[in-house]
Amino acid sequence: GPRIGVLALQGAYREHRQRLEALGAQVTEVRLPGDLAGLRGLILPGGESTTMARLMTEYRLWGPVRDFHAAGGHLWGTCAGAILLAREVQGAPPQFGHQDSLALLDVTVQRNAFGRQIDSFTTEVRVSGLDAPLPAVFIRAPAFARTGEGVERLCSYEGQTVAVRQGTILATAFHPELTGDLRLHELFVNELREPVAS
Ligand code: GLN
Repeated sequence: GPRIGVLALQGAYREHRQRLEALGAQVTEVRLPGDLAGLRGLILPGGESTTMARLMTEYRLWGPVRDFHAAGGHLWGTCAGAILLAREVQGAPPQFGHQDSLALLDVTVQRNAFGRQIDSFTTEVRVSGLDAPLPAVFIRAPAFARTGEGVERLCSYEGQTVAVRQGTILATAFHPELTGDLRLHELFVNELREPVAS
């Protein structure tokens, strides 16, 4: 299968790794820019986006991940990973002011969009492209409050957009890697089997 990277700075990267390996993909844990060499896709996992952003700066990964995307590498951000992809981030803790992001996905993402009282919940969502509902775990999940013209909305839950696609970028507010349902990972892996357009 294709070689896929999982950004392994913090958060739920081991679960993504297991799901990808179950589907026959070769997995590289990405911590340094050089780890991106030879990858067809990269998953940015859930966790804590402010912590991940700080580590992205520390390991000098912002530029290399943007270059990876520009060179045709596919990206999928889940939860905090989706926040890292967004052009604009709302709801960063006040002490951070502006929150750094890759700004590759033309959305405004609202952090913790489902309230703090209900920290996490599991539900089923309908995702376009999947024939049956997908179990989805939301943990202090964000939502895509604004989506740009080139952004396709794949899924909404309680009136909020929770999955989007823009070209080679996929972003989900929830965690598909915390369930046994592999269909979204399968979709991502299958895209990478196709030859890169040049
Ligand atoms: N609320 C977290 C953040 O803003 C994301 C939570 C998650 O990835 N499960 O980083």
